[in-house]
Amino acid sequence: MNWKSAVDREEYHEISRGYHRKDSLDTQGRLMVDSNLRVKGHNNIFGIGDISDIPEPKQGYLAQSHAKIASKNIALLAKGAKDEKLVIYKPTTKAFAIISLGRKKAVAQFPYFSIAGRVPGMIKSGDLFVGNMWKGLGLQPN
Ligand SMILES: Cc1cc2nc3c(=O)[nH]c(=O)nc-3n(C[C@H](O)[C@H](O)[C@H](O)COP(=O)(O)OP(=O)(O)OC[C@H]3O[C@@H](n4cnc5c(N)ncnc54)[C@H](O)[C@@H]3O)c2cc1C
Repeated sequence: MNWKSAVDREEYHEISRGYHRKDSLDTQGRLMVDSNLRVKGHNNIFGIGDISDIPEPKQGYLAQSHAKIASKNIALLAKGAKDEKLVIYKPTTKAFAIISLGRKKAVAQFPYFSIAGRVPGMIKSGDLFVGNMWKGLGLQPN
C-alpha cells in the first residue's frame, strides 16, 4: 500500500512529532476518534488502541480489532473511497481481562464473573500470549 497517498504529509509530521491539535484531544488527553477511527479534525489520520477515546476497556486484543478496521479504511481511502464506504467500528460492551499471578496462576475478569487460580493461569500465564502473538504475525516462536 502507498501510505503516503493515504496520509497527508504535513498532518502526519504534525502528529508524529507529538503536536496533537488540542481540539483532537478530550479532557483526559485521549485522541477523539469517529466511528471510522479517524482522529477528530482529520480526514486521513487514525487513532487506535489505548490512546483513543473509544468507549470500551483498554485491551490489547481490542487494539488489534481497531487496527483491522483502521487498515481497511486506510486502504479504502488510498483507493479513493468516499466517507460513507468506510468501515465502522462498533465498540464492544463485553470485554474480558486476564492478569498473570506468576507462571501458573492468574486472575480473570469476564463480563459476568471473575475467577482466580490455575484455570485462568492455564490460559495466559505460560507464555503471556507471546506464542499467539508470534503466530498472528506469521512467525515461528523459538
Ligand atoms: C498488567 C497488564 C496486563 C494486561 N493484560 C492484557 C491481556 O491479557 N489482554 C489484552 O488484550 N490486553 C491486556 N492489557 C492491555 C494491553 O497491554 C493494552 O491495551 C495494549 O498494550 C494497548 O496497545 P497500544 O498499542 O494502544 O499501546 P501500547 O502497547 O502502550 O503501545 C504504545 C507504544 O508507544 C510508545 N510510545 C509512547 N509515547 C511515545 C512517543 N512519544 N514516541 C514514540 N513512542 C511512544 C510506548 O513506548 C509503547 O511502546 C494488559 C495491560 C497491563 C498493564
